[in-house]
Amino acid sequence: MKLAVLGSGSRGNATLLGSGGRWILVDAGFSGKQVEERLDTLDVPVNGVEGIVVTHEHVDHTRGIGVLARRYGIPLYMTPGTREACAHLLKGTESVVEYRPGRSFRVAGLTVAPFLTVHDAVDPVAVTVSGPECGSRVGLAMDLGRPTAQIRHSLRDCHFLVLEANHDERLLREGPYPPTVQARIASSHGHLSNHAAAQFARELLHPGLAGIILAHLSQECNRPELARRVIRDALTTAGFRGYLGVARQDQPTDLMDLTRLRSANGSDQLTLF
Ligand SMILES: [Zn+2]
Ligand SMILES: [Zn+2]
Repeated sequence: MKLAVLGSGSRGNATLLGSGGRWILVDAGFSGKQVEERLDTLDVPVNGVEGIVVTHEHVDHTRGIGVLARRYGIPLYMTPGTREACAHLLKGTESVVEYRPGRSFRVAGLTVAPFLTVHDAVDPVAVTVSGPECGSRVGLAMDLGRPTAQIRHSLRDCHFLVLEANHDERLLREGPYPPTVQARIASSHGHLSNHAAAQFARELLHPGLAGIILAHLSQECNRPELARRVIRDALTTAGFRGYLGVARQDQPTDLMDLTRLRSANGSDQLTLF
């Protein structure tokens, strides 16, 4: 299975996953044109995308869904609540497939398992995506207010994680946001801080975890080096030797080959024990 984060942050989120030349997007929070351009830099044709799984209605996750669905006939996978909350983006001509949290479904040969998160949206979900042939399981968890037992359970045993590290607590306190916005971001229905992400990543650590990409970093209240350092420190002391990257707002990550990454990490062997 291959994965690239096309971009991540409060101005847009989209993640590409695929196997055997078949692709899906989880969220399309950039304009249709931006998504096309970012796919192009990775040599992935937009008409190779067989579905867009929408995690919740916030515009940084949905900006391009209507255009991409209409222009390329890409089906949108949404919960009924998210579909309703996205009505302003849809014209009724799109192909929409409704899914329910807790029930997995297949798109482009991949199995998507959605589960509810705690976030200030109608029906917010995070997902795991599994490639049946390669056996890789990826957890995509952004816009997590707080990691509940259910979220922990759903994300266990992933071989790769894209995990929110939204803000540094001190930068949030000293940043430009008014107290009400600060409180919303830091609340249990807002976003994970670097330290909360570090703690959560430690809880999810297991020998088969080959890599983590930190995502949804706040432009104002975080720094990529800072997020990486906080999480790297927490994971290194817990024995993690895998890949740790940071997704940027303005450019895609490399298209990562998870099967290769897992074997480079030796995690395939370790999972046998
Ligand atoms: Zn959100
Ligand atoms: Zn978001």
